[in-house]
Amino acid sequence: MAKPILLSVDDDSDVLRAIERDLRSQYGAEYRVIGSDSPEGALDLLKQLKLRNDSVALLLADQRMPRMDGVEFLQQATGIFPGAKRALLTAYADTNAAISAINQASINYFFLKPWDPPAEHLYPQLDDLLDDWQASFRPTFQGIRVLGTRWSPRSYELRDFLARNRVPYQWTDVELSANDPETKRLLEALGPEAANLPVVLFPDGTKLLEGVPADVAQKVGLRTRAQTNFYEMAIVGGGPAGLAAAVYGASEGLHTVMIEREAPGGQAGMSSRIENYLGFPAGLSGTDLARRAVAQAQRFGVEILAQEVVGARAEGPYRIIKLADGNELSCHALMIATGVQWRRLEAPGIDRLQGAGIYYGGGATEALSCKGEIVYVVGGANSAGQAAMNFAKYAERVIILVRGESLSSTMSQYLIDQIKETRNIQLWTHASVSEAHGEIHLEEISVLCSDTNKIELVPASAMFIFIGALPRTDWLADVVERDDRGFLLTGPDLIRDGQRPKGWTLDRDPFLLETNVPGIFAVGDVRHGSIKRVASGVGEGSVAVQFIHQYLSKV
Ligand SMILES: Cc1cc2nc3c(=O)[nH]c(=O)nc-3n(C[C@H](O)[C@H](O)[C@H](O)COP(=O)(O)OP(=O)(O)OC[C@H]3O[C@@H](n4cnc5c(N)ncnc54)[C@H](O)[C@@H]3O)c2cc1C
Repeated sequence: MAKPILLSVDDDSDVLRAIERDLRSQYGAEYRVIGSDSPEGALDLLKQLKLRNDSVALLLADQRMPRMDGVEFLQQATGIFPGAKRALLTAYADTNAAISAINQASINYFFLKPWDPPAEHLYPQLDDLLDDWQASFRPTFQGIRVLGTRWSPRSYELRDFLARNRVPYQWTDVELSANDPETKRLLEALGPEAANLPVVLFPDGTKLLEGVPADVAQKVGLRTRAQTNFYEMAIVGGGPAGLAAAVYGASEGLHTVMIEREAPGGQAGMSSRIENYLGFPAGLSGTDLARRAVAQAQRFGVEILAQEVVGARAEGPYRIIKLADGNELSCHALMIATGVQWRRLEAPGIDRLQGAGIYYGGGATEALSCKGEIVYVVGGANSAGQAAMNFAKYAERVIILVRGESLSSTMSQYLIDQIKETRNIQLWTHASVSEAHGEIHLEEISVLCSDTNKIELVPASAMFIFIGALPRTDWLADVVERDDRGFLLTGPDLIRDGQRPKGWTLDRDPFLLETNVPGIFAVGDVRHGSIKRVASGVGEGSVAVQFIHQYLSKV
């Protein structure tokens, strides 16, 4: 924890040096001693300290300073750090002024200059003040702080990114806590910059205005640049399939890089409880699974980059990928494990309010904000069921909207049973969202009821959409063969009428998980015909490594 601060202000540099020296020799082990030779400079400094979330224990100011006297400085400084103890340094002639300041301006003490010997005239009184301060001192949060508003899509994107990358942070909704004195002080310290939300404050005193995930990633040390430009294996996508490939590949000696554009864990990372993964009878959360897998991959030396891959090509024995920042990496074996992304719900108002009450997927960061609210979950598959169970812990009521007449054909029985037993989950069948309404955030939805052919308008502050997913593989369109929905074809799927794929030059068939370009493999949900499960993704990722060894033996 950063040491609390003792700040002294004096325009006379000799006196300032003397007081700093005495403070440091007595309190330096427990406190950080800072000096300023002008009250204006000290006020600026205090604003910086406020933004860093530092604690100030003592403000000690000389009474006679040009432009602003000590009392005025202490009054202004109190507006920034109201809990700090305040003391004046005065000459004998100013004693009366100091006494009235104690009464009028809540000054805790005044010291006469000179204060020699400090053991008699300075330390005993300061000890008392600092003991008093310590008694009510609560250490401040020492990590990243994000200031924004709940309904801002940019704030949501940033919080979701931090949460999914397991970066601890403190969130302040500046609208909700507009009357909180500490929030007001923080916004005042930011000045006009407070308009550029979301603002990200880092413990080193730096800040990002209108913060976006890529900038925050760099700042918090998520690697965005590769250490070298050639790897034996490059994996695109850090879901269960990519992570499994990374762990098996690196543990078997392949120099491996894994590139993930959002957060390791993929869709599984959004799952509040995976109950069917082997070896976890009580289930485990997707975040936990991802955290364990990342630690395992890193232990074997896998390099993980926070970047998006936007292109790929083959050049002789090299497979080259292009990153969103324009850099390129080459490898011998390329593994595509990019999974699937949520299908969009096409209805008026949905796109406009995305991130402002409408979310695709689990919205883990939003669950707590839904306390006491009515939450709609759209979709009837397991992912929707798990999300409904999770939101039911916080929300007043969770309503699942499904087009069909029941959940039985789309959801596992264990989840249907759990939902039935959960008092505050309600199922609304034959229902689909036809419009979303709200100015700044979601306020109501129109629901088309196919059994009555009527539209019902209902209040809603949060809606989570889980209506299936598609692979986003356009960047691979001219590189490898895809099916009509964009899933990648591999192994036997590429053999038509006994013929190997067009342009295939090797005297063997494509390996089981290999695409029509030798050395480019596809695993997990992105692969045509895959079983969309965590265990099957993990299985494919690990099995593919065996084929990569065979491929590399002949490159
Ligand atoms: C809410 C939810 C609950 C689920 N519950 C279960 C369950 O209980 N049991 C179960 O077995 N399955 C469950 N599933 C399904 C399971 O999570 C998926 O089948 C599995 O995650 C697929 O793994 P994957 O690695 O193939 O792809 P994904 O998990 O989709 O991961 C792909 C990753 O690639 C990244 N990526 C995509 N494109 C790029 C690019 N161009 N550059 C860089 N990175 C990129 C993505 O950001 C993503 O992180 C659930 C899914 C969801 C959404």
